[in-house]
Amino acid sequence: MEKIKVGILGATGMVGQRFVQLLQDHPWFQVVAVAASPRSAGKTYEEAVKGKWKIDATIPNKVKSIKVVAVEEDINKIVSEVDFVFSALDLDKDKIGSIEELYASKDCPVVSNNSAHRWTADVPMIIPEINPQHTDLIDIQRKDRRWNKGFIVVKPNCSIQSYVPVIKALESYKPRKLIVTALQAISGAGKTFETWPEMNGNIIPLIKGEEAKSEKEPMKILGKIKDSHIEEAKTLTISATCIRVPVIDGHMTSVDIELEKKISKEKFVDAIVNYKNPISDLNLPSAPKQFMKYFEEEDRPQTRIDRDIENGMGITVGRLRQDSVLGWKFVSLSHNTIRGAAGGAILVAELLKAKGYLGK
Ligand code: NAP
Repeated sequence: MEKIKVGILGATGMVGQRFVQLLQDHPWFQVVAVAASPRSAGKTYEEAVKGKWKIDATIPNKVKSIKVVAVEEDINKIVSEVDFVFSALDLDKDKIGSIEELYASKDCPVVSNNSAHRWTADVPMIIPEINPQHTDLIDIQRKDRRWNKGFIVVKPNCSIQSYVPVIKALESYKPRKLIVTALQAISGAGKTFETWPEMNGNIIPLIKGEEAKSEKEPMKILGKIKDSHIEEAKTLTISATCIRVPVIDGHMTSVDIELEKKISKEKFVDAIVNYKNPISDLNLPSAPKQFMKYFEEEDRPQTRIDRDIENGMGITVGRLRQDSVLGWKFVSLSHNTIRGAAGGAILVAELLKAKGYLGK
């Protein structure tokens, strides 16, 4: 099968590097263009990431010698060479929004990791195992914007990936309130301990803008398509605290949840483990075999030993117990740069390919 040609916007950054690593032997997609700022343009990929390669694996040979191009200046060259792009840019949000629209208007679909379009009414925000049906919004988006092949789809923030699946799994028990504290790794800020030595042995109780994302984005994902937008879920309220902790990868959350309907511990665990995954029949290459795993061991999940489960695409849950305030509490974990960023976006692209939105 001829592979679908992919470009990565922001390929030299931390998330961009993850895309490069995760796509190296992908059965459907092949990286043919790596784009970044004019600072990197003209260098080979290997030269451009010299001294700032942050992934615990070598740079894939297939990409090392590709010449980096400039996201804006070389747009016509890029769209002529690729079938779609992943966006992992980090610059002014309005600027990213208009760059992504420009690519889509030039018949180049965009699967974005960035927050610029998460609240654009006709742009779906997708976790494939939760709201794959929201891809239907693409047809409306294309029609309204008069885009022929292009479109924009986004994935949500890395902080919400480990608790939104649990809320979805418990849907029939009517979740009403949720208080979440997210303990977030430093790679979520694009940093390592070398580039952020202040994080050694330290905790910072602020991640700017993150709490609003953690409270609001689940409502769009759990919402329904109505006319040309997503009507947000209204029956649940979330209160979030996001804290930076001295961990390299893996966001852990501590969650208190109130359910309207009574549930036993066994049923709670059963809802998680036997969640009816709507994409399990599609056999997407990056999809975890088991979406959510529950640990009976009372000291799991742990960031270092459990974040890579299912190649970093699995969600792990543990420490489920009754709570005298909201009813139940648990701990959950997901890999922030894999499930929460590049891996999550690749899975979205695989879903789009399976539904006929990408490729010839
Ligand atoms: P990063 O390491 O700072 O990388 C930023 C990328 O954007 C680089 O490739 C950089 O190219 C490029 N860039 C910067 N200015 C540019 C310009 N003027 N024109 C074209 N390209 C430009 O950032 P990151 O951590 O990978 O994050 C990327 C995005 O993903 C951000 O929006 C972030 O919020 C989001 N995100 C990150 C995570 C995570 O875990 N890290 C998780 C979810 C979402 P140069 O190398 O040439 O400067």
